[in-house]
Amino acid sequence: MADDKELSSFISERDMQYTILDTRPDRGLLFVISGPSGVGKGTLRKKVFNVFPDLKYSVSANTRPPRKGEIEGKDYYFVTVDEFKKMIKENKFVEWAIVHGDYKGTPIQFLIDELLKKGRDILLELDVQGAMQVKEKFPDGIFIFIAPPTWKDLEDRLRKRNTEGESALEKRLKDARIEIKYKKNYNYLVVNDNIKTALKKIESIIIAERCKIANYKK
Ligand code: 5GP
Repeated sequence: MADDKELSSFISERDMQYTILDTRPDRGLLFVISGPSGVGKGTLRKKVFNVFPDLKYSVSANTRPPRKGEIEGKDYYFVTVDEFKKMIKENKFVEWAIVHGDYKGTPIQFLIDELLKKGRDILLELDVQGAMQVKEKFPDGIFIFIAPPTWKDLEDRLRKRNTEGESALEKRLKDARIEIKYKKNYNYLVVNDNIKTALKKIESIIIAERCKIANYKK
């Protein structure tokens, strides 16, 4: 138990921290979670938002039809291929890619408003092609690669998910072997062998990045 003296020194230290919080940079931190299909990034992303409700999620535009329970503007902006192509022409995306046959893209305006203007921390969950495009434009972003523990594990997960036929599954596994080669371009590697420990690792990365001196105003 802290005695009164210790407690008072703790209070002033805490007050100092409030002052330091005011010196957070105007610009927020950009976290990008990425990795092969079936690795569990979507599940991890949802859990990360439960832990950090102050993080902002960037809702992507997407040309596939909504799945059961998906909500327009919350899960995706569901658009037609023509609408998506028009948005590409109008430079509305910070990145876009064709992911398993559907167009997906991150709206640039959201990043400008939330990350740059309001200084909010943002999390993106993207395929590897998209993450690499974001890295070109935001090299200071924090890129987290989610990897499966084994190829067998990835295959089992894709089979269990059962959202694709055999040839689509083969293609995803083939793509995964290419995607994993890009992990060297990321800042962190999280092996998703257990959802709880993988989540803990992502939490630790977010907390550590938020504590970095370099991420405070000089
Ligand atoms: P799903 O169609 O199952 O929701 O998503 C399939 C894949 O698309 C996931 O790997 C997800 O990370 C990726 N994805 C979702 N939104 C975007 C985006 O805006 N850009 C890119 N490049 N990939 C995305």
